[in-house]
Amino acid sequence: MIILGIESSCDETAAALVEEGRRILSGAVASQIAVHGPFGGVVPELASRKHVEAILVVIEKALKEAGVTVDEVDAIAVTQGPGLVGSLLVGISAAKALSYSLGKPLIGVNHLEAHIHAAFIEDEPIEEPAVCLVVSGGHTALYYMESSDSRPHYLGGTLDDAAGEAFDKVAKLLGLGYPGGVVIDRLSVSGNPEAFDFPRAYLGRDSFDFSFSGLKTAVANFVRKFGNPALEGEVPYRVEDLVASFQEAVVDVLVDKTTAAAVHHGVKHVIVVGGVAANRRLRERFAEASIEKGWTLHIPPVSLCTDNAVMVAAAGYAVWKRQGFVKDPLSLDAVSRWL
Ligand code: ATP
Ligand code: MG
Ligand code: FE
Repeated sequence: MIILGIESSCDETAAALVEEGRRILSGAVASQIAVHGPFGGVVPELASRKHVEAILVVIEKALKEAGVTVDEVDAIAVTQGPGLVGSLLVGISAAKALSYSLGKPLIGVNHLEAHIHAAFIEDEPIEEPAVCLVVSGGHTALYYMESSDSRPHYLGGTLDDAAGEAFDKVAKLLGLGYPGGVVIDRLSVSGNPEAFDFPRAYLGRDSFDFSFSGLKTAVANFVRKFGNPALEGEVPYRVEDLVASFQEAVVDVLVDKTTAAAVHHGVKHVIVVGGVAANRRLRERFAEASIEKGWTLHIPPVSLCTDNAVMVAAAGYAVWKRQGFVKDPLSLDAVSRWL
């Protein structure tokens, strides 16, 4: 079964063709980083407009790259939410139009479940229970899953900022550019993660919830006291040390909470996905924890951590196996908040 995946939940317009949920035939992504960069974050109205411009281009590109005609596509999977409604509607409208005009069935996909499936592309799915950390620009949450294809059960999540959002806001504060996660990751390689001791919010020993706004405020207070490179240029500390210390605080909490959830549920598999899963230090620390705890770690290749449509097509296959196609394709609607 060949599925055409379509993604437009935030600031990437993407299309991909995936066979049997795992074999990548093609993947095209049009990124809007250059559009939103000057604003230091995604501007929803601009995002919708750019999706409209790019959607058909990426779909055609994906078909061409795969050498597949639209007639050979068996079904269309589209991100239904969560995300920016104006952005989601562009992908959904394109998917509905193709579904209606070509008579192809439709599958509505949860974007976070799509991120999870990125971990199993070109890898074997698992039939055993797992704990999954979704750590991205808009979400930071832990899930329990019976198997890689089953519906994720929410264990806890951020009460304020998502981890990726904290990376982006700290980078913006320091004038480092957008998206902040990538810049902080790169600068941290030459920084000392123990240079400054920033707060780690654990919210009680048994909590699987997260909070990153206090950490963000601690960095803001630090630069108010010691100088901000965005305002002063010269500062009496190394920016690399500051961001490495910030990053370490985020990673500590993510690894510790995921470990606690894995121990609590007695699982042998741990899944780590989402844009922040591209982070080098996070990958390194989870690799170490897996060896120590004897887990099998499932983490996507860096190219499939941030938004793409390969993961949407892959998740679409699992959703179809679980619940079939959407009964009334034209009634499919965007869902802005959806755990
Ligand atoms: P969501 O998936 O929650 O709807 P999103 O789709 O906008 O949000 P993703 O595309 O999954 O988010 O991830 C983007 C986020 O990942 C941004 O916040 C970005 O800073 C962060 N990110 C990307 N690469 C890295 C990295 N190497 N280190 C840390 N963070 C990173
Ligand atoms: Mg994005
Ligand atoms: Fe995402």
